Amino acid sequence: MKFTGQILKMSTENGKPIQYHLCLSNDLIIMNQLIGKKIRMKHIGYECLSCGKDEKLYRMGFCKKCFFESPYASETIIRPELSTAHLGIGERDLEVEKSIQLHPHIVYLAYTGDVKVGVTRESQIPTRWIDQGATFALPIAKTDNRYEAGMIEVALKEHLADKTNWRKMLEDDFEDDLDLKDFREKIKEYFPEDFKNFYSMEHEMVRMDYPYEAPQKINSFTLDKSPEFEAVLNGIKGQYLSFEGGNFINVRAHEGYVIELEV
Ligand SMILES: [Zn+2]
Repeated sequence: MKFTGQILKMSTENGKPIQYHLCLSNDLIIMNQLIGKKIRMKHIGYECLSCGKDEKLYRMGFCKKCFFESPYASETIIRPELSTAHLGIGERDLEVEKSIQLHPHIVYLAYTGDVKVGVTRESQIPTRWIDQGATFALPIAKTDNRYEAGMIEVALKEHLADKTNWRKMLEDDFEDDLDLKDFREKIKEYFPEDFKNFYSMEHEMVRMDYPYEAPQKINSFTLDKSPEFEAVLNGIKGQYLSFEGGNFINVRAHEGYVIELEV
């Protein structure tokens, strides 16, 4: 069967193992069912996530114009501590920024090969953790908005990683008895004074179970380097598809690419 459409990050459903779906135009492809099978992918164009133009993408699935103009690509998406919607101050579009920033946010610890700190909207849990390929995650604070969560993250990343090292994440090496609660205890003292009231010990650690086994070696490739390929899908972790021979493609990094997928 052949499907055609724009790549968006895979949607997920937490389970044992996690279920992955790829939506291409009107077709929903259940990726777990393709594990062990050969698939063929061909890059045929682009579709900007904002304006839909078939133009080479600049960053995050946006063409250059939209990357610098869309409120969905503004700097506060990457750096929550710069958020200003709670002050009534807009950056690109106050109404959109309010809809993104003025919701309860969670500061969490996650294990993705290292223990890292991150921020996400409460409604994005556990989606955000699965997208990062976290094996374990633990909320450590709940705030009223994105700004407060960002301020806590900035203070904690002096002591913890805040980026995922994708290679380590895909090596899938972890201690079975890793307990993020120990880290939660240790970093309590690094919470900024004004935000200590958000520190929370009420949550339990969550463990994610991926349809994935790490291969011996790990290489990543992109559709820019290999616009057409055919390979057996071996597993999925985070937003990475694992193909035979230890070759990986990051689906999320290809948002906005239009492809043909043959399964
Ligand atoms: Zn655009």
